Amino acid sequence: MDERQRRIQQRRAQRRRNELIMKCLISLLILIVIILMVVLVRYAAVPGFTKYRAERKKQAEQTVDGQEGALPADGQEADGKEPAVQGVSASSGTVDEMIASADRMAAQYDYSGAIEYLRASSLFTGSQEMQDAAARYETTRQSCVSYPLDQITHVFFHTMIRDTSKAFDGDAKEGGYNQVMTTMSEFAAIMESMYEKGYVMVSLHDMCTVNADGTVSRGDILLPPGKTPFVLSQDDVSYYHYMDGDGFAQKLIVDENGDVKNTYIEADGSISVGDYDMVPWIDTFVKEHPDFSYHGHKGIIALTGYEGVLGYRTDEVYRTRESSRVTMYQQQFFDSHPDFDEAAWQEEVNQATAVANAMKEEGWEFASHTWGHISPQASGIDKVKQDTERWLGNVASVVGDTDVIIFAFGADIGDWQPYTESNEYFTYLKGKGFNIFCNVDSSKNWVQFGNTFMRQGRRNLDGYRMYYNPEMLSDLFDTNAVWDSSRPTPVPQM
Ligand SMILES: [Zn+2]
Repeated sequence: MDERQRRIQQRRAQRRRNELIMKCLISLLILIVIILMVVLVRYAAVPGFTKYRAERKKQAEQTVDGQEGALPADGQEADGKEPAVQGVSASSGTVDEMIASADRMAAQYDYSGAIEYLRASSLFTGSQEMQDAAARYETTRQSCVSYPLDQITHVFFHTMIRDTSKAFDGDAKEGGYNQVMTTMSEFAAIMESMYEKGYVMVSLHDMCTVNADGTVSRGDILLPPGKTPFVLSQDDVSYYHYMDGDGFAQKLIVDENGDVKNTYIEADGSISVGDYDMVPWIDTFVKEHPDFSYHGHKGIIALTGYEGVLGYRTDEVYRTRESSRVTMYQQQFFDSHPDFDEAAWQEEVNQATAVANAMKEEGWEFASHTWGHISPQASGIDKVKQDTERWLGNVASVVGDTDVIIFAFGADIGDWQPYTESNEYFTYLKGKGFNIFCNVDSSKNWVQFGNTFMRQGRRNLDGYRMYYNPEMLSDLFDTNAVWDSSRPTPVPQM
Protein backbone atom coordinates (compact mmCIF):
# COMPACT_ATOMS: atom_id res chain seq x y z
CA MET A 1 0.00 0.00 0.00
CA ASP A 2 1.50 3.24 -1.02
CA GLU A 3 1.39 6.42 1.01
CA ARG A 4 -1.41 7.95 -1.13
CA GLN A 5 -3.81 5.03 -0.70
CA ARG A 6 -3.16 4.94 3.04
CA ARG A 7 -4.06 8.58 3.33
CA ILE A 8 -7.27 8.09 1.35
CA GLN A 9 -8.31 5.24 3.65
CA GLN A 10 -7.53 7.34 6.70
CA ARG A 11 -9.66 10.17 5.30
CA ARG A 12 -12.58 7.78 4.62
CA ALA A 13 -12.39 6.46 8.20
CA GLN A 14 -12.32 10.04 9.46
CA ARG A 15 -15.41 10.94 7.37
CA ARG A 16 -17.32 7.89 8.68
CA ARG A 17 -16.51 8.88 12.25
CA ASN A 18 -17.66 12.46 11.59
CA GLU A 19 -20.90 11.22 10.02
CA LEU A 20 -21.57 8.99 13.03
CA ILE A 21 -20.96 11.88 15.44
CA MET A 22 -23.28 14.11 13.39
CA LYS A 23 -26.02 11.46 13.44
CA CYS A 24 -25.67 11.11 17.20
CA LEU A 25 -25.87 14.88 17.66
CA ILE A 26 -28.97 15.17 15.44
CA SER A 27 -30.68 12.31 17.31
CA LEU A 28 -29.87 14.00 20.59
CA LEU A 29 -31.26 17.31 19.34
CA ILE A 30 -34.47 15.66 18.15
CA LEU A 31 -34.81 13.97 21.54
CA ILE A 32 -34.36 17.30 23.36
CA VAL A 33 -36.97 18.94 21.12
CA ILE A 34 -39.42 16.09 21.80
CA ILE A 35 -38.88 16.34 25.56
CA LEU A 36 -39.36 20.12 25.43
CA MET A 37 -42.56 19.74 23.45
CA VAL A 38 -43.96 17.20 25.89
CA VAL A 39 -43.21 19.51 28.82
CA LEU A 40 -44.72 22.51 27.03
CA VAL A 41 -47.87 20.68 25.98
CA ARG A 42 -48.34 19.36 29.50
CA TYR A 43 -47.96 22.82 30.97
CA ALA A 44 -50.21 24.55 28.45
CA ALA A 45 -52.77 21.77 28.12
CA VAL A 46 -54.60 22.70 31.29
CA PRO A 47 -54.76 26.48 31.36
CA GLY A 48 -55.95 27.82 34.72
CA PHE A 49 -59.31 29.51 34.43
CA THR A 50 -57.97 32.69 35.97
CA LYS A 51 -55.22 32.88 33.38
CA TYR A 52 -57.73 32.35 30.59
CA ARG A 53 -60.00 35.01 31.98
CA ALA A 54 -57.16 37.46 32.55
CA GLU A 55 -56.03 37.01 28.96
CA ARG A 56 -59.51 37.53 27.53
CA LYS A 57 -59.95 40.58 29.69
CA LYS A 58 -56.60 42.04 28.71
CA GLN A 59 -57.40 41.56 25.04
CA ALA A 60 -60.74 43.28 25.45
CA GLU A 61 -59.26 46.14 27.45
CA GLN A 62 -56.62 46.73 24.82
CA THR A 63 -59.30 46.91 22.16
CA VAL A 64 -61.33 49.34 24.22
CA ASP A 65 -58.36 51.53 25.11
CA GLY A 66 -57.26 51.63 21.52
CA GLN A 67 -60.59 53.03 20.47
CA GLU A 68 -60.91 55.66 23.17
CA GLY A 69 -63.89 54.23 24.95
CA ALA A 70 -65.49 52.76 21.87
CA LEU A 71 -66.61 49.20 22.27
CA PRO A 72 -65.31 46.42 20.10
CA ALA A 73 -67.63 45.78 17.20
CA ASP A 74 -67.68 42.05 17.79
CA GLY A 75 -70.17 41.09 20.47
CA GLN A 76 -67.99 38.27 21.67
CA GLU A 77 -65.02 40.51 22.34
CA ALA A 78 -67.21 43.00 24.11
CA ASP A 79 -68.25 40.21 26.43
CA GLY A 80 -64.68 39.89 27.60
CA LYS A 81 -64.91 43.43 28.94
CA GLU A 82 -66.62 42.12 31.98
CA PRO A 83 -66.38 38.77 33.66
CA ALA A 84 -68.48 36.20 31.89
CA VAL A 85 -68.45 33.99 34.94
CA GLN A 86 -68.62 34.92 38.57
CA GLY A 87 -67.68 33.03 41.64
CA VAL A 88 -65.21 30.79 39.82
CA SER A 89 -61.84 30.87 41.50
CA ALA A 90 -58.60 29.72 39.96
CA SER A 91 -59.13 26.10 39.05
CA SER A 92 -56.54 23.45 38.59
CA GLY A 93 -58.38 22.77 35.38
CA THR A 94 -59.62 19.22 35.52
CA VAL A 95 -62.23 18.30 32.93
CA ASP A 96 -64.98 18.50 35.56
CA GLU A 97 -63.88 21.91 36.77
CA MET A 98 -63.64 23.28 33.26
CA ILE A 99 -67.11 21.99 32.42
CA ALA A 100 -68.47 23.54 35.61
CA SER A 101 -67.00 26.92 34.59
CA ALA A 102 -68.33 26.56 31.05
CA ASP A 103 -71.75 25.55 32.42
CA ARG A 104 -71.86 28.80 34.36
CA MET A 105 -71.02 30.83 31.26
CA ALA A 106 -73.74 28.98 29.37
CA ALA A 107 -76.18 29.58 32.26
CA GLN A 108 -75.53 33.29 31.63
CA TYR A 109 -76.33 32.75 27.93
CA ASP A 110 -72.72 33.10 26.80
CA TYR A 111 -72.79 29.89 24.78
CA SER A 112 -70.09 30.97 22.33
CA GLY A 113 -67.83 31.93 25.21
CA ALA A 114 -68.40 28.57 26.92
CA ILE A 115 -67.62 26.65 23.72
CA GLU A 116 -64.56 28.79 23.03
CA TYR A 117 -63.36 28.25 26.61
CA LEU A 118 -63.57 24.45 26.34
CA ARG A 119 -62.12 24.33 22.84
CA ALA A 120 -59.12 26.36 23.98
CA SER A 121 -58.05 23.42 26.16
CA SER A 122 -55.92 20.69 24.61
CA LEU A 123 -57.92 18.24 26.74
CA PHE A 124 -60.87 19.00 24.46
CA THR A 125 -59.98 16.63 21.62
CA GLY A 126 -59.51 13.75 24.06
CA SER A 127 -62.55 14.41 26.24
CA GLN A 128 -65.93 13.11 25.12
CA GLU A 129 -67.48 14.88 28.12
CA MET A 130 -66.16 18.27 27.00
CA GLN A 131 -67.23 17.68 23.43
CA ASP A 132 -70.71 16.68 24.60
CA ALA A 133 -70.94 19.85 26.71
CA ALA A 134 -69.89 22.02 23.75
CA ALA A 135 -72.47 20.30 21.55
CA ARG A 136 -75.11 20.95 24.21
CA TYR A 137 -74.24 24.68 24.34
CA GLU A 138 -74.34 24.87 20.55
CA THR A 139 -77.81 23.30 20.44
CA THR A 140 -79.09 25.81 22.99
CA ARG A 141 -77.34 28.67 21.20
CA GLN A 142 -79.12 27.79 17.98
CA SER A 143 -82.48 27.83 19.77
CA CYS A 144 -81.90 31.44 20.92
CA VAL A 145 -83.63 34.37 19.30
CA SER A 146 -82.59 38.00 18.82
CA TYR A 147 -84.69 40.03 21.24
CA PRO A 148 -86.28 43.15 19.68
CA LEU A 149 -84.22 46.01 21.14
CA ASP A 150 -87.12 48.49 20.96
CA GLN A 151 -89.06 46.34 23.42
CA ILE A 152 -86.46 46.28 26.19
CA THR A 153 -87.67 47.84 29.42
CA HIS A 154 -85.43 49.79 31.79
CA VAL A 155 -86.30 50.02 35.49
CA PHE A 156 -84.59 52.15 38.11
CA PHE A 157 -84.48 52.72 41.83
CA HIS A 158 -82.92 55.10 44.29
CA THR A 159 -80.99 54.05 47.39
CA MET A 160 -83.01 51.41 49.25
CA ILE A 161 -84.53 51.94 52.67
CA ARG A 162 -83.09 49.37 55.06
CA ASP A 163 -84.87 50.45 58.25
CA THR A 164 -88.39 51.70 57.51
CA SER A 165 -88.96 52.82 61.09
CA LYS A 166 -86.20 55.42 60.62
CA ALA A 167 -87.18 56.51 57.08
CA PHE A 168 -90.89 56.75 57.92
CA ASP A 169 -90.54 58.46 61.30
CA GLY A 170 -92.77 61.44 60.61
CA ASP A 171 -90.00 63.97 60.00
CA ALA A 172 -89.90 66.41 57.08
CA LYS A 173 -88.11 63.92 54.83
CA GLU A 174 -90.63 61.08 55.27
CA GLY A 175 -92.88 62.17 52.39
CA GLY A 176 -90.05 62.35 49.87
CA TYR A 177 -88.72 58.93 50.88
CA ASN A 178 -92.24 57.53 50.61
CA GLN A 179 -92.58 58.88 47.07
CA VAL A 180 -89.25 58.11 45.42
CA MET A 181 -87.62 55.39 47.50
CA THR A 182 -88.16 51.63 47.67
CA THR A 183 -87.65 49.47 50.74
CA MET A 184 -85.24 46.52 50.76
CA SER A 185 -88.09 44.04 51.20
CA GLU A 186 -89.96 45.57 48.26
CA PHE A 187 -86.84 45.56 46.10
CA ALA A 188 -86.09 41.91 46.90
CA ALA A 189 -89.69 40.89 46.14
CA ILE A 190 -89.68 42.86 42.85
CA MET A 191 -86.43 41.25 41.68
CA GLU A 192 -87.64 37.77 42.68
CA SER A 193 -90.87 38.31 40.75
CA MET A 194 -89.00 39.53 37.69
CA TYR A 195 -86.63 36.56 37.89
CA GLU A 196 -89.55 34.15 38.05
CA LYS A 197 -91.11 35.82 35.01
CA GLY A 198 -87.90 35.17 33.02
CA TYR A 199 -86.36 38.63 33.12
CA VAL A 200 -82.60 38.80 32.52
CA MET A 201 -80.36 41.81 33.29
CA VAL A 202 -78.55 43.16 30.24
CA SER A 203 -76.19 46.10 29.80
CA LEU A 204 -76.99 49.19 27.77
CA HIS A 205 -73.83 48.17 25.94
CA ASP A 206 -75.49 44.88 24.96
CA MET A 207 -78.20 46.95 23.28
CA CYS A 208 -75.82 48.96 21.14
CA THR A 209 -72.28 49.08 19.85
CA VAL A 210 -70.31 52.30 19.64
CA ASN A 211 -68.03 52.19 16.63
CA ALA A 212 -64.59 53.75 16.37
CA ASP A 213 -65.95 56.53 14.13
CA GLY A 214 -68.48 57.59 16.78
CA THR A 215 -71.50 56.03 15.11
CA VAL A 216 -73.75 53.81 17.17
CA SER A 217 -75.19 50.58 15.80
CA ARG A 218 -77.75 48.17 17.16
CA GLY A 219 -76.55 45.36 19.36
CA ASP A 220 -77.76 41.77 19.24
CA ILE A 221 -79.14 40.16 22.39
CA LEU A 222 -79.60 36.42 21.95
CA LEU A 223 -81.75 34.68 24.55
CA PRO A 224 -83.68 31.42 24.72
CA PRO A 225 -87.41 31.86 24.00
CA GLY A 226 -89.31 32.89 27.14
CA LYS A 227 -86.51 35.07 28.50
CA THR A 228 -86.95 38.86 28.55
CA PRO A 229 -84.01 41.26 28.79
CA PHE A 230 -84.24 44.38 30.97
CA VAL A 231 -81.86 47.14 32.06
CA LEU A 232 -81.48 47.89 35.77
CA SER A 233 -80.18 51.19 37.07
CA GLN A 234 -79.86 52.98 40.38
CA ASP A 235 -79.53 56.72 40.87
CA ASP A 236 -77.62 58.80 43.40
CA VAL A 237 -75.71 56.02 45.16
CA SER A 238 -73.83 58.71 47.07
CA TYR A 239 -75.36 58.07 50.48
CA TYR A 240 -75.96 61.81 50.77
CA HIS A 241 -75.47 63.55 54.12
CA TYR A 242 -79.19 64.32 54.43
CA MET A 243 -79.93 60.58 54.64
CA ASP A 244 -77.78 60.05 57.76
CA GLY A 245 -79.77 58.39 60.53
CA ASP A 246 -82.78 57.79 58.27
CA GLY A 247 -82.37 54.03 57.84
CA PHE A 248 -80.12 53.91 54.76
CA ALA A 249 -76.80 52.13 54.36
CA GLN A 250 -73.67 54.17 55.16
CA LYS A 251 -71.51 53.20 52.16
CA LEU A 252 -70.31 50.38 49.91
CA ILE A 253 -67.15 48.53 50.88
CA VAL A 254 -65.05 45.59 49.67
CA ASP A 255 -65.09 42.93 52.39
CA GLU A 256 -62.32 40.45 53.27
CA ASN A 257 -63.59 38.00 50.62
CA GLY A 258 -63.40 40.65 47.91
CA ASP A 259 -67.20 40.97 47.79
CA VAL A 260 -68.92 44.35 47.64
CA LYS A 261 -71.10 44.89 50.73
CA ASN A 262 -72.79 47.73 52.58
CA THR A 263 -71.98 49.06 56.01
CA TYR A 264 -74.85 50.22 58.18
CA ILE A 265 -74.63 52.22 61.40
CA GLU A 266 -76.90 50.60 63.98
CA ALA A 267 -78.78 52.54 66.65
CA ASP A 268 -76.07 51.74 69.24
CA GLY A 269 -73.35 53.06 66.93
CA SER A 270 -71.99 49.64 66.00
CA ILE A 271 -71.43 48.93 62.31
CA SER A 272 -73.05 45.98 60.52
CA VAL A 273 -71.92 44.63 57.15
CA GLY A 274 -74.41 43.11 54.74
CA ASP A 275 -76.64 43.36 51.68
CA TYR A 276 -78.45 46.58 52.60
CA ASP A 277 -78.80 48.08 49.12
CA MET A 278 -79.12 47.06 45.47
CA VAL A 279 -75.53 46.24 44.55
CA PRO A 280 -74.65 43.61 47.17
CA TRP A 281 -78.19 42.17 47.09
CA ILE A 282 -77.96 41.60 43.32
CA ASP A 283 -74.42 40.19 43.64
CA THR A 284 -75.64 37.61 46.17
CA PHE A 285 -78.76 36.82 44.13
CA VAL A 286 -76.76 36.27 40.90
CA LYS A 287 -74.37 33.94 42.74
CA GLU A 288 -77.38 31.75 43.47
CA HIS A 289 -79.23 32.48 40.20
CA PRO A 290 -76.58 33.07 37.50
CA ASP A 291 -79.26 33.02 34.79
CA PHE A 292 -80.60 36.37 36.05
CA SER A 293 -77.55 38.00 34.39
CA TYR A 294 -76.72 38.13 30.68
CA HIS A 295 -73.02 37.35 30.17
CA GLY A 296 -72.34 38.40 33.79
CA HIS A 297 -73.64 41.93 33.20
CA LYS A 298 -75.50 43.67 36.03
CA GLY A 299 -76.93 47.15 36.55
CA ILE A 300 -75.66 50.63 35.91
CA ILE A 301 -75.14 53.14 38.73
CA ALA A 302 -75.89 56.80 37.93
CA LEU A 303 -73.63 58.97 40.07
CA THR A 304 -73.63 62.63 40.95
CA GLY A 305 -70.46 64.06 42.45
CA TYR A 306 -71.19 66.96 44.76
CA GLU A 307 -71.17 64.89 47.96
CA GLY A 308 -68.82 62.22 46.65
CA VAL A 309 -69.62 58.72 45.41
CA LEU A 310 -70.68 55.38 46.93
CA GLY A 311 -70.60 56.85 50.46
CA TYR A 312 -67.09 58.35 50.18
CA ARG A 313 -66.50 62.09 50.42
CA THR A 314 -64.38 62.27 47.29
CA ASP A 315 -65.40 65.62 45.84
CA GLU A 316 -62.79 68.38 45.55
CA VAL A 317 -64.73 70.57 47.98
CA TYR A 318 -63.90 68.12 50.80
CA ARG A 319 -60.24 68.76 49.98
CA THR A 320 -60.27 72.51 49.20
CA ARG A 321 -63.04 73.54 51.63
CA GLU A 322 -63.55 76.50 49.28
CA SER A 323 -65.83 78.61 51.46
CA SER A 324 -68.15 79.76 48.68
CA ARG A 325 -68.86 76.16 47.74
CA VAL A 326 -69.14 74.41 51.13
CA THR A 327 -72.81 73.57 51.77
CA MET A 328 -74.56 73.42 55.12
CA TYR A 329 -74.37 69.61 55.15
CA GLN A 330 -70.67 69.70 54.27
CA GLN A 331 -69.97 72.19 57.05
CA GLN A 332 -71.76 69.85 59.48
CA PHE A 333 -69.56 67.03 58.18
CA PHE A 334 -66.38 69.07 58.75
CA ASP A 335 -67.60 70.05 62.21
CA SER A 336 -68.18 66.43 63.19
CA HIS A 337 -64.92 65.25 61.52
CA PRO A 338 -62.35 67.84 62.65
CA ASP A 339 -59.45 65.58 61.62
CA PHE A 340 -60.66 65.18 58.00
CA ASP A 341 -57.54 66.49 56.24
CA GLU A 342 -56.12 66.08 52.74
CA ALA A 343 -54.70 62.65 53.58
CA ALA A 344 -58.12 61.54 54.82
CA TRP A 345 -59.67 62.84 51.59
CA GLN A 346 -57.10 60.91 49.54
CA GLU A 347 -57.96 57.78 51.51
CA GLU A 348 -61.66 58.29 50.64
CA VAL A 349 -60.69 58.52 46.95
CA ASN A 350 -58.56 55.36 47.19
CA GLN A 351 -61.33 53.38 48.90
CA ALA A 352 -64.03 54.56 46.51
CA THR A 353 -61.82 53.58 43.58
CA ALA A 354 -61.26 50.13 45.08
CA VAL A 355 -65.04 49.66 45.49
CA ALA A 356 -65.73 50.86 41.94
CA ASN A 357 -63.11 48.49 40.55
CA ALA A 358 -64.55 45.55 42.51
CA MET A 359 -68.03 46.46 41.22
CA LYS A 360 -66.84 46.59 37.61
CA GLU A 361 -65.23 43.16 38.11
CA GLU A 362 -68.65 41.91 39.19
CA GLY A 363 -70.38 43.24 36.07
CA TRP A 364 -71.57 46.69 37.24
CA GLU A 365 -71.26 49.84 35.17
CA PHE A 366 -71.34 53.56 35.98
CA ALA A 367 -73.09 56.51 34.36
CA SER A 368 -73.10 60.25 34.85
CA HIS A 369 -76.16 61.58 36.65
CA THR A 370 -74.59 65.06 36.27
CA TRP A 371 -72.22 66.28 38.99
CA GLY A 372 -74.69 68.63 40.64
CA HIS A 373 -77.94 66.73 39.95
CA ILE A 374 -78.94 69.39 37.43
CA SER A 375 -81.60 69.58 34.77
CA PRO A 376 -79.54 70.50 31.68
CA GLN A 377 -81.94 72.69 29.70
CA ALA A 378 -83.17 74.49 32.84
CA SER A 379 -79.53 75.21 33.78
CA GLY A 380 -78.24 76.40 30.41
CA ILE A 381 -75.32 75.24 28.32
CA ASP A 382 -72.63 77.11 30.29
CA LYS A 383 -73.71 75.49 33.54
CA VAL A 384 -73.82 72.11 31.78
CA LYS A 385 -70.23 72.58 30.60
CA GLN A 386 -69.01 73.51 34.08
CA ASP A 387 -70.99 70.64 35.60
CA THR A 388 -69.65 68.11 33.08
CA GLU A 389 -66.05 69.18 33.75
CA ARG A 390 -66.68 68.70 37.47
CA TRP A 391 -68.16 65.25 36.82
CA LEU A 392 -65.15 64.21 34.74
CA GLY A 393 -62.69 65.68 37.25
CA ASN A 394 -64.30 64.37 40.44
CA VAL A 395 -66.29 61.27 39.49
CA ALA A 396 -64.80 59.76 36.32
CA SER A 397 -61.41 60.22 37.95
CA VAL A 398 -62.58 57.90 40.76
CA VAL A 399 -64.88 55.33 39.09
CA GLY A 400 -63.55 55.46 35.52
CA ASP A 401 -64.84 56.78 32.22
CA THR A 402 -68.33 56.14 30.91
CA ASP A 403 -70.24 56.96 27.75
CA VAL A 404 -73.65 56.85 29.47
CA ILE A 405 -75.52 59.83 30.91
CA ILE A 406 -78.67 59.22 32.95
CA PHE A 407 -80.29 62.61 33.37
CA ALA A 408 -81.35 63.82 36.82
CA PHE A 409 -85.00 64.75 37.47
CA GLY A 410 -85.89 62.50 34.53
CA ALA A 411 -84.96 65.48 32.37
CA ASP A 412 -83.56 65.32 28.86
CA ILE A 413 -81.81 67.58 26.36
CA GLY A 414 -84.53 67.43 23.75
CA ASP A 415 -88.07 66.18 23.13
CA TRP A 416 -88.97 62.71 21.86
CA GLN A 417 -87.64 63.46 18.39
CA PRO A 418 -84.08 62.30 17.63
CA TYR A 419 -81.27 64.63 18.71
CA THR A 420 -79.81 66.67 15.87
CA GLU A 421 -76.44 68.33 15.32
CA SER A 422 -78.10 71.68 15.98
CA ASN A 423 -78.78 70.65 19.61
CA GLU A 424 -75.86 72.29 21.43
CA TYR A 425 -76.34 70.12 24.53
CA PHE A 426 -76.12 66.97 22.44
CA THR A 427 -73.08 68.04 20.41
CA TYR A 428 -71.29 69.16 23.59
CA LEU A 429 -72.02 65.94 25.51
CA LYS A 430 -71.27 63.76 22.48
CA GLY A 431 -67.94 65.59 22.20
CA LYS A 432 -67.26 64.71 25.85
CA GLY A 433 -67.69 61.01 25.07
CA PHE A 434 -71.36 60.37 25.85
CA ASN A 435 -73.19 58.05 23.43
CA ILE A 436 -76.08 56.68 25.49
CA PHE A 437 -78.70 59.01 27.01
CA CYS A 438 -81.46 58.01 29.44
CA ASN A 439 -84.49 59.96 30.63
CA VAL A 440 -87.54 58.84 32.60
CA ASP A 441 -90.57 57.58 30.74
CA SER A 442 -93.39 55.69 32.36
CA SER A 443 -94.21 53.59 29.30
CA LYS A 444 -93.04 49.99 29.22
CA ASN A 445 -90.33 50.72 26.72
CA TRP A 446 -88.97 53.69 24.88
CA VAL A 447 -85.80 53.11 22.88
CA GLN A 448 -84.47 55.36 20.14
CA PHE A 449 -81.48 54.78 17.89
CA GLY A 450 -79.83 57.67 16.09
CA ASN A 451 -76.80 57.57 13.87
CA THR A 452 -74.53 58.59 16.76
CA PHE A 453 -76.54 57.84 19.90
CA MET A 454 -78.97 55.55 21.67
CA ARG A 455 -81.67 56.83 24.02
CA GLN A 456 -83.80 54.87 26.45
CA GLY A 457 -86.60 55.81 28.83
CA ARG A 458 -86.64 54.43 32.37
CA ARG A 459 -89.48 53.40 34.68
CA ASN A 460 -89.39 54.36 38.35
CA LEU A 461 -90.31 51.47 40.65
CA ASP A 462 -90.94 53.52 43.77
CA GLY A 463 -93.63 54.24 46.34
CA TYR A 464 -95.35 56.82 44.16
CA ARG A 465 -95.68 54.59 41.10
CA MET A 466 -96.68 51.50 43.11
CA TYR A 467 -99.33 53.44 45.03
CA TYR A 468 -100.88 55.41 42.18
CA ASN A 469 -100.28 53.27 39.08
CA PRO A 470 -99.90 49.61 40.08
CA GLU A 471 -101.47 48.56 36.75
CA MET A 472 -98.49 50.09 34.94
CA LEU A 473 -96.18 47.62 36.67
CA SER A 474 -98.15 44.39 36.22
CA ASP A 475 -95.77 43.09 33.54
CA LEU A 476 -93.04 43.07 36.21
CA PHE A 477 -94.74 42.22 39.52
CA ASP A 478 -97.96 42.34 41.52
CA THR A 479 -97.80 45.48 43.67
CA ASN A 480 -100.05 43.93 46.35
CA ALA A 481 -97.56 41.11 46.78
CA VAL A 482 -94.47 43.29 47.14
CA TRP A 483 -95.88 46.33 48.99
CA ASP A 484 -94.13 47.05 52.32
CA SER A 485 -96.92 47.47 54.87
CA SER A 486 -94.74 49.78 56.97
CA ARG A 487 -95.15 52.46 54.27
CA PRO A 488 -97.46 55.28 55.45
CA THR A 489 -100.51 55.78 53.19
CA PRO A 490 -101.57 57.61 51.27
CA VAL A 491 -98.22 58.21 49.59
CA PRO A 492 -98.10 62.04 49.20
CA GLN A 493 -99.06 63.48 45.82
CA MET A 494 -96.21 64.94 43.74
ZN1 LIG B 1 -81.31 61.55 40.94
